[in-house]
Amino acid sequence: MKKIISILIVTVALFSCKEVKKEVASEETTKPEIKLYTFSGGTVMVNNLELFSQDTTYQGQSKEFADPYYVISHPKGTLMWDAGLPEGLVAAPEPITPPGGAFTISRKDSVNKQLKLIGMTPDDINYLALSHTHFDHSGHANAISNATWLVQDVEYDMITSDEIRNSENAGLYEAIKSLKNVKKLNGDFDVFGDGSVIIKSMPGHTPGHQVLFLDMPENGPTLLTGDLYHLYENREHRRVPSFNFDVAQTLSSMDSFEAFAKEKNAKVYLQHQKEDFNKMPKAPKYLK
Ligand SMILES: [Zn+2]
Repeated sequence: MKKIISILIVTVALFSCKEVKKEVASEETTKPEIKLYTFSGGTVMVNNLELFSQDTTYQGQSKEFADPYYVISHPKGTLMWDAGLPEGLVAAPEPITPPGGAFTISRKDSVNKQLKLIGMTPDDINYLALSHTHFDHSGHANAISNATWLVQDVEYDMITSDEIRNSENAGLYEAIKSLKNVKKLNGDFDVFGDGSVIIKSMPGHTPGHQVLFLDMPENGPTLLTGDLYHLYENREHRRVPSFNFDVAQTLSSMDSFEAFAKEKNAKVYLQHQKEDFNKMPKAPKYLK
């Protein structure tokens, strides 16, 4: 009798073990097959790093920034996140220092050439979202002209305002003017409707600045910061660049970002920080 009971116990134990395993497996497979391709959109040599805080912390310092853009492939479509530096730089024999001298910029390859690495053309991109419309994030946006541009309402108003179009920053408007399919956002947006690719509104750097959340099958919850933070030190010490649109709004976005990152236990990647760029597999390789 004792023997029968112990066999029963073992059988029940084995059975429930199998059930648990099954549950875990099905939870894993419900995550959509997202692939994150990382490309270099050029390099920004910051000649005057002092611009990246409100005080004199970085006086006399310079630093090289990565300037990546990304393609997120999801079973329901493709999103491009950010658009690197202007493609005009590809033909330039030397890196270029625009007036003011704060930055020296260069870019090696066009988006067409880079997308070929993963067997795509600009027409394969369904959605384009920019963390914001500064020149180092909107460079080749015009080349993705058939995609739907996902942009915060306030960012769209800023970039298309007469003030920008008639100013020395008219180039920012020029970079997006061929984008005709526009979906204006007012806050967070779940791109494919399943919670796996979410644009999070994080204003302050610009009026409609946003970051990207990905729930990836292997890498897990992942956050791309746009320009919420340019440097690890700025994240650690909550430093706000001197050229941000709104300091209080930036600090409040930092609070929301950190709370969300903690809640999701997300891996955070600072786009301009070279160490984080180097961690990413480069296209045609991808993170999944
Ligand atoms: Zn930037």
